[in-house]
Amino acid sequence: MKYYSTRDTKKTNGIDSAVAIKNGLAPDGGLYMPSEIPAVSSSDILSLCKKSYAERAADILSRFLCDYTYDELLSDCREAYGEARFPGGAAPLVKLNDNIFVLELWHGPTGAFKDMALQIMPRLLSRALVKTGEKRTAHILVATSGDTGKAALEGYRDIDGIKITVFYPVDGVSKIQKLQMATQEGGNVNVCAVKGNFDDAQNGVKKIFSDNEAKERLNEKGVFLSSANSINWGRLAPQIAYYVSAYCDMINTGEIANGDLIDICVPTGNFGNIFAGYIAKLMGLPIRRFICASNSNNVLTDFFETGTYDRNRKFHTTMSPSMDILISSNLERLLYLVSGPEKTREWMKQLVCEGKYTVDAETKSALDREFTACCSTEENTAETIYNTFDKYGYLSDTHTACALFASYKKADGVKIVTDSTASPYKFASDVLASLGEKKPEDAFEAFELLNRKTGVDIPDSFVSLKTKAVRFDKVIEPNSMLDFVLDK
Ligand SMILES: *Cc1c(COP(=O)(O)O)cnc(C)c1O
Repeated sequence: MKYYSTRDTKKTNGIDSAVAIKNGLAPDGGLYMPSEIPAVSSSDILSLCKKSYAERAADILSRFLCDYTYDELLSDCREAYGEARFPGGAAPLVKLNDNIFVLELWHGPTGAFKDMALQIMPRLLSRALVKTGEKRTAHILVATSGDTGKAALEGYRDIDGIKITVFYPVDGVSKIQKLQMATQEGGNVNVCAVKGNFDDAQNGVKKIFSDNEAKERLNEKGVFLSSANSINWGRLAPQIAYYVSAYCDMINTGEIANGDLIDICVPTGNFGNIFAGYIAKLMGLPIRRFICASNSNNVLTDFFETGTYDRNRKFHTTMSPSMDILISSNLERLLYLVSGPEKTREWMKQLVCEGKYTVDAETKSALDREFTACCSTEENTAETIYNTFDKYGYLSDTHTACALFASYKKADGVKIVTDSTASPYKFASDVLASLGEKKPEDAFEAFELLNRKTGVDIPDSFVSLKTKAVRFDKVIEPNSMLDFVLDK
Protein backbone atom coordinates (compact mmCIF):
# COMPACT_ATOMS: atom_id res chain seq x y z
CA MET A 1 0.00 0.00 0.00
CA LYS A 2 1.32 3.43 -0.97
CA TYR A 3 0.66 6.83 0.58
CA TYR A 4 -0.17 10.00 -1.37
CA SER A 5 -0.56 13.66 -0.49
CA THR A 6 -4.12 14.98 -0.29
CA ARG A 7 -3.02 17.57 -2.87
CA ASP A 8 -1.31 15.16 -5.30
CA THR A 9 -3.76 15.27 -8.19
CA LYS A 10 -1.67 13.02 -10.45
CA LYS A 11 -0.90 10.35 -7.85
CA THR A 12 2.66 9.97 -9.02
CA ASN A 13 4.51 10.28 -5.73
CA GLY A 14 3.47 7.17 -3.80
CA ILE A 15 5.59 6.34 -0.74
CA ASP A 16 5.66 3.64 1.97
CA SER A 17 4.05 4.21 5.34
CA ALA A 18 7.47 4.40 7.07
CA VAL A 19 8.36 7.35 4.82
CA ALA A 20 4.99 9.02 5.45
CA ILE A 21 5.56 8.69 9.20
CA LYS A 22 9.09 10.03 8.87
CA ASN A 23 8.04 13.02 6.72
CA GLY A 24 4.90 14.03 8.61
CA LEU A 25 3.66 16.67 6.18
CA ALA A 26 3.90 16.03 2.40
CA PRO A 27 6.30 18.31 0.44
CA ASP A 28 3.35 20.01 -1.35
CA GLY A 29 1.80 20.99 1.99
CA GLY A 30 -0.84 18.26 1.89
CA LEU A 31 -1.39 15.38 4.29
CA TYR A 32 -0.57 11.75 3.58
CA MET A 33 -3.37 9.29 2.90
CA PRO A 34 -3.24 5.57 2.02
CA SER A 35 -4.07 4.65 -1.58
CA GLU A 36 -6.93 2.47 -0.41
CA ILE A 37 -8.81 1.78 2.82
CA PRO A 38 -8.42 -1.86 3.89
CA ALA A 39 -11.55 -3.74 4.93
CA VAL A 40 -12.36 -5.20 8.32
CA SER A 41 -15.05 -7.86 7.84
CA SER A 42 -17.76 -8.92 10.22
CA SER A 43 -15.88 -12.13 11.00
CA ASP A 44 -12.65 -10.15 11.56
CA ILE A 45 -14.56 -8.15 14.16
CA LEU A 46 -15.73 -11.32 15.91
CA SER A 47 -12.22 -12.69 16.09
CA LEU A 48 -10.93 -9.35 17.46
CA CYS A 49 -13.56 -9.57 20.22
CA LYS A 50 -11.48 -12.31 21.87
CA LYS A 51 -8.26 -10.31 21.82
CA SER A 52 -6.49 -7.82 24.09
CA TYR A 53 -6.32 -4.13 23.26
CA ALA A 54 -2.70 -4.45 22.10
CA GLU A 55 -3.61 -7.31 19.76
CA ARG A 56 -6.59 -5.42 18.35
CA ALA A 57 -4.42 -2.37 17.73
CA ALA A 58 -1.63 -4.38 16.07
CA ASP A 59 -4.18 -6.07 13.81
CA ILE A 60 -5.70 -2.79 12.63
CA LEU A 61 -2.30 -1.09 12.24
CA SER A 62 -0.92 -3.99 10.21
CA ARG A 63 -3.62 -3.40 7.59
CA PHE A 64 -2.34 0.14 7.01
CA LEU A 65 1.39 -0.06 7.75
CA CYS A 66 2.21 -2.76 5.23
CA ASP A 67 5.96 -2.21 5.41
CA TYR A 68 5.95 -3.12 9.11
CA THR A 69 5.58 -6.78 10.11
CA TYR A 70 2.72 -7.86 12.35
CA ASP A 71 5.25 -9.03 14.95
CA GLU A 72 6.95 -5.62 15.01
CA LEU A 73 3.60 -3.93 15.49
CA LEU A 74 2.44 -6.39 18.14
CA SER A 75 5.63 -5.92 20.12
CA ASP A 76 5.28 -2.11 19.90
CA CYS A 77 1.59 -2.20 20.82
CA ARG A 78 2.26 -4.44 23.82
CA GLU A 79 4.81 -1.95 25.13
CA ALA A 80 2.70 1.09 24.33
CA TYR A 81 -0.62 -0.16 25.69
CA GLY A 82 0.51 -2.53 28.45
CA GLU A 83 -0.21 -2.32 32.16
CA ALA A 84 2.91 -0.19 32.82
CA ARG A 85 1.61 2.71 30.73
CA PHE A 86 -2.13 2.12 30.79
CA PRO A 87 -2.93 0.62 34.19
CA GLY A 88 -6.31 -1.09 34.08
CA GLY A 89 -6.52 -1.21 30.26
CA ALA A 90 -6.07 1.18 27.36
CA ALA A 91 -9.57 2.21 26.26
CA PRO A 92 -12.28 1.13 28.71
CA LEU A 93 -15.91 1.71 27.78
CA VAL A 94 -18.19 2.97 30.56
CA LYS A 95 -21.97 2.74 30.31
CA LEU A 96 -23.73 5.97 31.26
CA ASN A 97 -27.30 5.02 30.36
CA ASP A 98 -29.04 2.72 27.85
CA ASN A 99 -27.97 4.92 24.94
CA ILE A 100 -24.74 6.62 25.90
CA PHE A 101 -21.37 4.96 26.44
CA VAL A 102 -18.18 6.77 27.34
CA LEU A 103 -14.94 5.60 25.72
CA GLU A 104 -12.23 6.64 28.19
CA LEU A 105 -9.09 7.37 26.22
CA TRP A 106 -7.08 9.04 28.98
CA HIS A 107 -5.67 6.25 31.12
CA GLY A 108 -2.13 6.76 29.78
CA PRO A 109 0.82 8.59 31.40
CA THR A 110 -0.37 12.17 30.79
CA GLY A 111 -4.09 11.89 31.49
CA ALA A 112 -5.25 12.80 27.97
CA PHE A 113 -6.24 10.84 24.88
CA LYS A 114 -3.13 11.96 22.99
CA ASP A 115 -1.29 9.16 24.79
CA MET A 116 -3.26 6.62 22.74
CA ALA A 117 -1.29 7.69 19.67
CA LEU A 118 1.84 9.17 21.18
CA GLN A 119 2.87 6.15 23.20
CA ILE A 120 3.16 4.14 19.98
CA MET A 121 4.11 6.73 17.37
CA PRO A 122 7.76 7.17 18.57
CA ARG A 123 8.24 3.41 18.24
CA LEU A 124 6.86 3.53 14.71
CA LEU A 125 9.15 6.42 13.82
CA SER A 126 12.16 4.74 15.38
CA ARG A 127 11.52 1.69 13.16
CA ALA A 128 10.90 3.97 10.17
CA LEU A 129 14.39 5.49 10.54
CA VAL A 130 15.91 2.00 10.36
CA LYS A 131 13.61 0.89 7.50
CA THR A 132 14.55 3.91 5.39
CA GLY A 133 18.30 3.76 6.15
CA GLU A 134 18.17 7.21 7.77
CA LYS A 135 21.42 8.28 9.44
CA ARG A 136 20.39 11.80 10.50
CA THR A 137 18.74 12.74 13.80
CA ALA A 138 14.99 13.35 13.59
CA HIS A 139 13.96 16.62 15.22
CA ILE A 140 10.28 16.47 16.12
CA LEU A 141 8.51 19.85 16.11
CA VAL A 142 5.19 20.10 17.89
CA ALA A 143 2.70 22.94 18.21
CA THR A 144 0.30 22.16 21.01
CA SER A 145 -2.80 23.60 22.58
CA GLY A 146 -1.82 21.66 25.69
CA ASP A 147 -2.29 17.93 25.68
CA THR A 148 -0.29 16.98 22.59
CA GLY A 149 2.83 18.62 23.93
CA LYS A 150 3.03 16.71 27.15
CA ALA A 151 2.00 13.45 25.53
CA ALA A 152 4.63 13.87 22.79
CA LEU A 153 7.33 14.72 25.33
CA GLU A 154 6.46 11.60 27.36
CA GLY A 155 6.36 9.46 24.22
CA TYR A 156 9.65 10.66 22.72
CA ARG A 157 11.78 11.24 25.81
CA ASP A 158 15.15 9.51 25.58
CA ILE A 159 14.33 7.69 22.34
CA ASP A 160 17.54 7.11 20.35
CA GLY A 161 18.15 9.19 17.24
CA ILE A 162 15.27 11.56 17.95
CA LYS A 163 14.96 14.93 19.69
CA ILE A 164 11.83 16.93 20.28
CA THR A 165 10.84 20.60 20.64
CA VAL A 166 7.36 21.56 21.84
CA PHE A 167 5.84 25.04 21.35
CA TYR A 168 2.71 26.03 23.24
CA PRO A 169 0.63 29.26 23.22
CA VAL A 170 1.52 31.11 26.40
CA ASP A 171 -2.09 31.90 27.34
CA GLY A 172 -3.78 28.91 25.76
CA VAL A 173 -3.05 26.07 28.17
CA SER A 174 -4.08 25.26 31.74
CA LYS A 175 -1.79 25.71 34.73
CA ILE A 176 -1.36 21.99 35.07
CA GLN A 177 -0.62 21.55 31.36
CA LYS A 178 2.02 24.26 31.61
CA LEU A 179 3.57 22.63 34.66
CA GLN A 180 3.48 19.18 33.06
CA MET A 181 5.53 20.51 30.14
CA ALA A 182 7.82 22.84 32.08
CA THR A 183 8.94 19.97 34.33
CA GLN A 184 9.44 17.42 31.55
CA GLU A 185 12.40 15.11 32.08
CA GLY A 186 14.60 13.62 29.38
CA GLY A 187 17.89 14.52 27.69
CA ASN A 188 16.40 15.08 24.20
CA VAL A 189 13.49 17.40 25.03
CA ASN A 190 12.91 21.18 24.66
CA VAL A 191 9.85 23.22 25.59
CA CYS A 192 9.11 26.85 24.69
CA ALA A 193 6.09 29.15 25.13
CA VAL A 194 4.99 31.31 22.16
CA LYS A 195 3.09 34.61 22.36
CA GLY A 196 -0.33 34.25 20.70
CA ASN A 197 -2.89 31.46 20.40
CA PHE A 198 -2.66 27.86 19.20
CA ASP A 199 -3.05 28.79 15.53
CA ASP A 200 -0.10 31.19 15.81
CA ALA A 201 2.04 28.39 17.23
CA GLN A 202 0.81 25.88 14.65
CA ASN A 203 1.35 28.30 11.75
CA GLY A 204 4.85 28.99 13.07
CA VAL A 205 5.66 25.29 12.96
CA LYS A 206 4.11 24.90 9.50
CA LYS A 207 6.27 27.79 8.30
CA ILE A 208 9.45 26.16 9.57
CA PHE A 209 8.50 22.93 7.80
CA SER A 210 8.14 24.75 4.48
CA ASP A 211 11.37 26.79 4.86
CA ASN A 212 13.88 25.21 2.47
CA GLU A 213 16.82 27.29 3.66
CA ALA A 214 16.25 26.18 7.25
CA LYS A 215 16.01 22.60 6.05
CA GLU A 216 19.39 22.96 4.33
CA ARG A 217 21.06 24.39 7.43
CA LEU A 218 19.69 21.60 9.59
CA ASN A 219 20.73 19.00 7.03
CA GLU A 220 24.32 20.23 7.29
CA LYS A 221 24.10 19.57 11.02
CA GLY A 222 22.83 16.04 10.35
CA VAL A 223 19.26 16.85 11.40
CA PHE A 224 15.91 16.63 9.62
CA LEU A 225 12.50 17.81 10.78
CA SER A 226 9.50 15.62 11.47
CA SER A 227 6.15 16.20 13.15
CA ALA A 228 4.18 14.55 15.90
CA ASN A 229 1.05 16.66 15.38
CA SER A 230 -2.13 14.88 14.43
CA ILE A 231 -1.38 15.62 10.76
CA ASN A 232 1.15 12.74 10.92
CA TRP A 233 -0.26 9.44 9.68
CA GLY A 234 1.62 7.72 12.51
CA ARG A 235 -0.60 9.62 14.94
CA LEU A 236 -3.81 8.99 13.09
CA ALA A 237 -3.56 5.29 12.31
CA PRO A 238 -3.34 4.10 15.96
CA GLN A 239 -6.54 6.02 16.72
CA ILE A 240 -8.58 3.89 14.33
CA ALA A 241 -8.06 0.90 16.61
CA TYR A 242 -10.01 2.16 19.62
CA TYR A 243 -13.21 2.53 17.61
CA VAL A 244 -12.95 -1.09 16.54
CA SER A 245 -12.07 -2.04 20.11
CA ALA A 246 -15.07 -0.19 21.56
CA TYR A 247 -17.35 -1.98 19.10
CA CYS A 248 -15.88 -5.34 20.17
CA ASP A 249 -16.41 -4.46 23.83
CA MET A 250 -20.06 -3.65 23.15
CA ILE A 251 -20.51 -7.04 21.48
CA ASN A 252 -18.74 -8.74 24.40
CA THR A 253 -21.03 -7.14 26.97
CA GLY A 254 -24.14 -7.91 24.93
CA GLU A 255 -24.99 -4.23 24.35
CA ILE A 256 -25.10 -4.79 20.58
CA ALA A 257 -25.10 -7.69 18.15
CA ASN A 258 -22.36 -7.79 15.52
CA GLY A 259 -23.60 -5.65 12.63
CA ASP A 260 -25.73 -3.25 14.69
CA LEU A 261 -25.16 0.39 13.85
CA ILE A 262 -23.77 2.79 16.45
CA ASP A 263 -23.11 6.54 16.51
CA ILE A 264 -19.78 8.10 17.46
CA CYS A 265 -19.56 11.46 19.24
CA VAL A 266 -16.19 13.20 19.47
CA PRO A 267 -15.06 16.41 21.21
CA THR A 268 -13.21 17.84 18.24
CA GLY A 269 -10.30 20.22 17.72
CA ASN A 270 -7.91 19.40 14.92
CA PHE A 271 -10.33 16.75 13.55
CA GLY A 272 -7.86 13.87 14.02
CA ASN A 273 -9.81 11.79 16.50
CA ILE A 274 -13.15 11.96 14.69
CA PHE A 275 -11.44 11.37 11.33
CA ALA A 276 -9.88 8.14 12.67
CA GLY A 277 -13.44 7.04 13.47
CA TYR A 278 -14.48 7.86 9.92
CA ILE A 279 -11.69 5.62 8.61
CA ALA A 280 -12.99 2.83 10.87
CA LYS A 281 -16.38 3.29 9.24
CA LEU A 282 -14.88 3.13 5.74
CA MET A 283 -13.13 -0.09 6.76
CA GLY A 284 -16.55 -1.56 7.44
CA LEU A 285 -17.20 -0.91 11.15
CA PRO A 286 -21.00 -0.46 11.46
CA ILE A 287 -21.19 3.25 12.29
CA ARG A 288 -24.28 5.21 11.33
CA ARG A 289 -23.07 8.76 11.83
CA PHE A 290 -20.57 10.99 13.59
CA ILE A 291 -21.49 13.76 15.96
CA CYS A 292 -18.81 16.45 15.77
CA ALA A 293 -18.81 18.31 19.10
CA SER A 294 -17.22 21.73 19.52
CA ASN A 295 -16.98 24.42 22.19
CA SER A 296 -17.68 28.13 21.49
CA ASN A 297 -15.05 27.98 18.74
CA ASN A 298 -17.81 26.56 16.57
CA VAL A 299 -16.20 26.78 13.14
CA LEU A 300 -16.86 23.07 12.51
CA THR A 301 -20.49 23.23 13.63
CA ASP A 302 -21.05 26.05 11.15
CA PHE A 303 -19.20 24.11 8.47
CA PHE A 304 -21.32 20.99 8.82
CA GLU A 305 -24.49 23.05 8.99
CA THR A 306 -23.81 25.43 6.08
CA GLY A 307 -21.02 23.96 3.94
CA THR A 308 -18.91 27.08 4.49
CA TYR A 309 -15.72 26.85 6.49
CA ASP A 310 -14.90 30.33 7.70
CA ARG A 311 -12.05 30.94 10.10
CA ASN A 312 -12.61 34.72 10.05
CA ARG A 313 -14.23 34.94 13.44
CA LYS A 314 -13.48 35.78 17.02
CA PHE A 315 -11.21 33.32 18.79
CA HIS A 316 -12.54 32.23 22.19
CA THR A 317 -10.37 31.04 25.05
CA THR A 318 -12.52 28.41 26.76
CA MET A 319 -12.23 25.92 29.59
CA SER A 320 -11.71 23.20 26.95
CA PRO A 321 -8.48 24.64 25.48
CA SER A 322 -7.55 21.58 23.42
CA MET A 323 -10.58 22.39 21.26
CA ASP A 324 -9.78 26.11 20.93
CA ILE A 325 -8.89 25.79 17.26
CA LEU A 326 -10.00 27.70 14.18
CA ILE A 327 -8.18 25.62 11.57
CA SER A 328 -8.93 21.92 11.92
CA SER A 329 -6.10 20.51 9.83
CA ASN A 330 -7.36 16.95 9.44
CA LEU A 331 -10.61 18.11 7.86
CA GLU A 332 -8.51 18.24 4.69
CA ARG A 333 -8.30 14.45 4.78
CA LEU A 334 -12.08 14.11 4.96
CA LEU A 335 -12.54 16.48 2.02
CA TYR A 336 -9.96 14.50 0.06
CA LEU A 337 -11.83 11.25 0.60
CA VAL A 338 -15.23 12.73 -0.15
CA SER A 339 -14.32 15.05 -3.04
CA GLY A 340 -10.84 14.15 -4.32
CA PRO A 341 -7.51 16.02 -4.47
CA GLU A 342 -8.44 18.65 -7.10
CA LYS A 343 -11.25 20.23 -5.13
CA THR A 344 -9.38 19.77 -1.86
CA ARG A 345 -6.36 21.61 -3.20
CA GLU A 346 -8.55 24.48 -4.36
CA TRP A 347 -10.40 24.80 -1.03
CA MET A 348 -7.16 24.69 0.95
CA LYS A 349 -5.79 27.46 -1.27
CA GLN A 350 -8.89 29.55 -0.55
CA LEU A 351 -8.52 28.85 3.16
CA VAL A 352 -5.00 30.27 3.07
CA CYS A 353 -5.88 33.28 0.87
CA GLU A 354 -9.33 34.26 2.14
CA GLY A 355 -9.64 32.29 5.36
CA LYS A 356 -12.71 30.53 4.04
CA TYR A 357 -14.18 28.23 1.43
CA THR A 358 -17.56 26.74 0.55
CA VAL A 359 -17.88 23.13 -0.58
CA ASP A 360 -20.11 22.25 -3.56
CA ALA A 361 -23.61 20.82 -3.13
CA GLU A 362 -22.53 17.28 -3.87
CA THR A 363 -19.87 17.35 -1.16
CA LYS A 364 -22.27 18.98 1.28
CA SER A 365 -24.89 16.28 0.86
CA ALA A 366 -22.27 13.53 1.15
CA LEU A 367 -21.16 15.05 4.46
CA ASP A 368 -24.77 15.43 5.63
CA ARG A 369 -25.29 11.68 5.33
CA GLU A 370 -22.53 10.89 7.80
CA PHE A 371 -21.92 13.91 10.00
CA THR A 372 -23.92 16.08 12.32
CA ALA A 373 -22.47 18.75 14.59
CA CYS A 374 -23.20 20.53 17.83
CA CYS A 375 -21.43 23.23 19.83
CA SER A 376 -21.47 23.71 23.57
CA THR A 377 -21.27 27.15 25.18
CA GLU A 378 -19.27 27.52 28.38
CA GLU A 379 -22.56 27.45 30.27
CA ASN A 380 -23.73 24.28 28.47
CA THR A 381 -20.41 22.62 29.30
CA ALA A 382 -20.58 23.50 33.00
CA GLU A 383 -24.20 22.35 33.25
CA THR A 384 -23.33 19.08 31.54
CA ILE A 385 -20.56 18.36 34.06
CA TYR A 386 -22.96 19.14 36.89
CA ASN A 387 -25.89 17.12 35.50
CA THR A 388 -23.79 14.13 34.48
CA PHE A 389 -22.32 13.85 37.96
CA ASP A 390 -25.67 14.48 39.61
CA LYS A 391 -27.58 11.96 37.53
CA TYR A 392 -25.05 9.20 36.82
CA GLY A 393 -22.29 9.82 39.38
CA TYR A 394 -19.93 10.19 36.43
CA LEU A 395 -17.25 12.86 36.52
CA SER A 396 -16.23 14.23 33.13
CA ASP A 397 -13.61 16.76 32.12
CA THR A 398 -14.49 19.95 30.22
CA HIS A 399 -13.76 18.50 26.73
CA THR A 400 -15.71 15.32 27.30
CA ALA A 401 -18.57 17.47 28.60
CA CYS A 402 -18.83 19.23 25.21
CA ALA A 403 -19.32 15.81 23.64
CA LEU A 404 -21.75 14.63 26.30
CA PHE A 405 -23.80 17.79 25.73
CA ALA A 406 -23.94 16.89 22.03
CA SER A 407 -24.76 13.23 22.76
CA TYR A 408 -27.66 14.11 25.07
CA LYS A 409 -28.98 16.53 22.48
CA LYS A 410 -28.68 14.22 19.47
CA ALA A 411 -29.63 10.88 21.10
CA ASP A 412 -32.43 9.16 19.16
CA GLY A 413 -32.25 5.53 20.30
CA VAL A 414 -29.12 4.44 18.43
CA LYS A 415 -26.32 3.73 20.91
CA ILE A 416 -23.70 6.46 21.01
CA VAL A 417 -20.05 5.93 21.87
CA THR A 418 -18.89 9.28 23.26
CA ASP A 419 -15.14 9.81 23.40
CA SER A 420 -13.77 10.98 26.73
CA THR A 421 -10.51 12.71 25.97
CA ALA A 422 -9.09 13.84 29.31
CA SER A 423 -9.02 12.95 32.98
CA PRO A 424 -11.27 15.34 34.93
CA TYR A 425 -8.19 16.15 37.03
CA LYS A 426 -6.45 17.64 34.02
CA PHE A 427 -8.94 20.54 34.25
CA ALA A 428 -9.75 20.23 37.93
CA SER A 429 -10.47 23.91 38.71
CA ASP A 430 -13.04 24.29 35.94
CA VAL A 431 -14.61 20.93 36.74
CA LEU A 432 -14.88 21.94 40.38
CA ALA A 433 -16.44 25.29 39.47
CA SER A 434 -18.90 23.47 37.20
CA LEU A 435 -19.96 21.35 40.16
CA GLY A 436 -20.90 24.57 41.95
CA GLU A 437 -17.81 24.95 44.13
CA LYS A 438 -15.65 28.02 44.49
CA LYS A 439 -12.78 27.97 42.04
CA PRO A 440 -9.52 27.68 43.97
CA GLU A 441 -6.53 29.76 42.86
CA ASP A 442 -4.11 26.91 43.27
CA ALA A 443 -4.31 23.94 40.90
CA PHE A 444 -3.14 21.46 43.53
CA GLU A 445 -5.76 22.64 45.97
CA ALA A 446 -8.28 21.92 43.20
CA PHE A 447 -7.09 18.29 43.06
CA GLU A 448 -7.71 17.87 46.78
CA LEU A 449 -11.10 19.57 46.72
CA LEU A 450 -12.29 17.65 43.67
CA ASN A 451 -11.17 14.39 45.22
CA ARG A 452 -12.98 15.20 48.46
CA LYS A 453 -16.16 16.22 46.67
CA THR A 454 -16.38 13.31 44.21
CA GLY A 455 -14.31 10.45 45.64
CA VAL A 456 -12.66 9.98 42.22
CA ASP A 457 -8.94 9.11 42.57
CA ILE A 458 -6.26 11.65 41.58
CA PRO A 459 -3.88 10.16 38.97
CA ASP A 460 -0.40 9.58 40.45
CA SER A 461 1.37 11.56 37.72
CA PHE A 462 -0.59 14.67 38.76
CA VAL A 463 0.24 14.33 42.43
CA SER A 464 3.98 14.05 41.73
CA LEU A 465 3.97 17.28 39.65
CA LYS A 466 4.02 19.30 42.83
CA THR A 467 7.56 18.32 43.72
CA LYS A 468 9.16 18.35 40.27
CA ALA A 469 11.65 21.08 39.26
CA VAL A 470 10.75 23.51 36.44
CA ARG A 471 13.26 23.06 33.60
CA PHE A 472 11.75 25.28 30.85
CA ASP A 473 10.41 28.84 31.25
CA LYS A 474 11.23 30.64 27.98
CA VAL A 475 8.56 32.75 26.17
CA ILE A 476 9.23 33.94 22.58
CA GLU A 477 7.52 35.74 19.66
CA PRO A 478 6.17 33.50 16.85
CA ASN A 479 8.78 34.89 14.44
CA SER A 480 11.62 33.67 16.70
CA MET A 481 10.53 30.05 16.53
CA LEU A 482 12.90 29.16 13.71
CA ASP A 483 15.92 30.56 15.57
CA PHE A 484 14.94 28.57 18.62
CA VAL A 485 14.92 25.38 16.56
CA LEU A 486 18.22 26.14 14.79
CA ASP A 487 19.82 26.70 18.19
CA LYS A 488 18.93 23.29 19.55
C1 LIG B 1 -6.49 17.01 21.38
C2 LIG B 1 -7.71 16.98 22.21
C3 LIG B 1 -8.98 17.08 21.62
C4 LIG B 1 -9.19 17.29 20.14
O1 LIG B 1 -8.82 16.17 19.37
P1 LIG B 1 -8.57 16.34 17.80
O2 LIG B 1 -8.06 15.01 17.36
O3 LIG B 1 -7.54 17.41 17.65
O4 LIG B 1 -9.86 16.71 17.18
C5 LIG B 1 -10.08 17.00 22.46
N1 LIG B 1 -9.94 16.85 23.80
C6 LIG B 1 -8.74 16.77 24.38
C7 LIG B 1 -8.65 16.65 25.86
C8 LIG B 1 -7.58 16.82 23.61
O5 LIG B 1 -6.39 16.74 24.21
